[in-house]
Amino acid sequence: MSNAVLSLDQVSKAYRVRQGLFGRKLPLHALQDIAFSLQKGEVVGLVGESGCGKSTLAKILLGLLNPSKGTVSMYGQPIADMPLRERASRVQPIFQDPYSSLNPRKTVAQIVGLPLNLLGIKSADRNRQVTDMLDLVGLPQRAAGSFPSQLSGGQRQRVAIARALIARPEILICDEPTSALDVSVQSQILNLLQDLRDELNLTLLLISHNLAVVRHMSDRVVVMYLGRIVEEAETQALFDSPQHPYTHALLDTVLRPVPGQGLPYLDIQGEFPNPIRPPSGCAFHPRCKLAMDRCKSERPVLSASDGHRSACFLHDVN
Ligand code: SF4
Repeated sequence: MSNAVLSLDQVSKAYRVRQGLFGRKLPLHALQDIAFSLQKGEVVGLVGESGCGKSTLAKILLGLLNPSKGTVSMYGQPIADMPLRERASRVQPIFQDPYSSLNPRKTVAQIVGLPLNLLGIKSADRNRQVTDMLDLVGLPQRAAGSFPSQLSGGQRQRVAIARALIARPEILICDEPTSALDVSVQSQILNLLQDLRDELNLTLLLISHNLAVVRHMSDRVVVMYLGRIVEEAETQALFDSPQHPYTHALLDTVLRPVPGQGLPYLDIQGEFPNPIRPPSGCAFHPRCKLAMDRCKSERPVLSASDGHRSACFLHDVN
């Protein structure tokens, strides 16, 4: 049995997308041959521009989409073989905008207790567990009877975290968990996630445009470009000595994340390519300042050196 809590083996996802009103449908490869794993208690950061496939990947891990190819496994068991309820109780999401993910007509106690309802937990036990969970995420007990509209943004995200944790999942998929919050409360939520990770031995996939957040939180970082992993390394190695020119560009960029708009300013020449018509060879070559002739026709594969993987001919160790 694999030691990895979660592992992805050559996961791909393709859609057929119509070009224009009467155009024919063309394949859009949202993910291609994604392979990495999360170890118990680890925080893995996932970064890249909007359209790189991060959200598709999150949906696959949450069971909201099936991959076109490849396998996602938990402790070596394909999650496609797990009953949905078991998968949902072991992998939980935390989304960017807590307000839109909380039912405005339910109280905090009802929202947080809902997953226990679905598991058939009796009312007395449910109330006790909700009380404990509000404590754990730093919400006062009086919040139990409040509606989401009566809470601040930070408190709402605490409610979303409490709801995600109430059924004691092992893995949290955190999709931009702080980018909709005021700067002043972002660090409180990040510190809370870190404390909960330590206390509950959680495993986190942290999807974020904010490299400062990723650096602060993650043990390892995966960088994606146009549906593929282009670099993966321990956090310090990635920030101290990035190998892929795209990662270099990300790190050189002043990042000002705007909710729902991806990376608003990237100092990289050219536009993010149309995924329906991806560039030949290395998909990054039209924007790469170091591109060589072969980059236009050959695609570099991910190769590893000392656990640092990158897909670039400049670092090809094969
Ligand atoms: Fe740039 Fe070539 Fe490396 Fe792609 S393979 S990142 S185009 S140098």
